Amino acid sequence: MRIGIDFDNTIACYDGVFHRAAVDRGLIPPDVGMSKNAVRDHLNSSGRKEAFTELQGWIYGPGMDLVSPYPGFDIFVDAAVGVGHAIFIVSHKTRTPLAGPAYDLHSAARNFLDLRDITGPNRIAADAIFFEETKEAKVARIGELDCDVFIDDLPEILTMRGFPDETKALLFDPLRHHNGDHPALHHVGSWEEIGELLITLG
Ligand SMILES: [Mg+2]
Repeated sequence: MRIGIDFDNTIACYDGVFHRAAVDRGLIPPDVGMSKNAVRDHLNSSGRKEAFTELQGWIYGPGMDLVSPYPGFDIFVDAAVGVGHAIFIVSHKTRTPLAGPAYDLHSAARNFLDLRDITGPNRIAADAIFFEETKEAKVARIGELDCDVFIDDLPEILTMRGFPDETKALLFDPLRHHNGDHPALHHVGSWEEIGELLITLG
């Protein structure tokens, strides 16, 4: 099976990271919610959209040191590679942030994957990782790679025009934001659940 996986908020878990960085910079009071969306909504609603964009640029760049993969992702990769599945990572990510210093976000993400042993021998091959500058290029890549399944936290990618009909769409939704939405998509809540679906049962 050819398994395609998104990167941000599907492999890389930012829970608590935006909150901590925003509190450290004095951008938000500590009682704002811990999720990335809570921090974004707080800054957007107080007219500081640009501050959020810069904060995101820092986290996706040098701040990747503070980020972890979702629990169980490493076990999933071991098991999937062990049974002969091919894994690809396809991410919509600009080379540099849209605001603030010009950090190289593609190399920051590759370093994250290397340092946590997600890429390497008997893991995901370094040449199976693709960063695309637009969402259209991302769904085109998923088609070119002929993925049997693609896992993403954004329904808008999985339902986009150009997303291949032959690719089964899994919506990664660990916090159950989309409970009841998008009934046509298969919702999954953890990497353990994805492993059961694609390896144990599949
Ligand atoms: Mg994502």
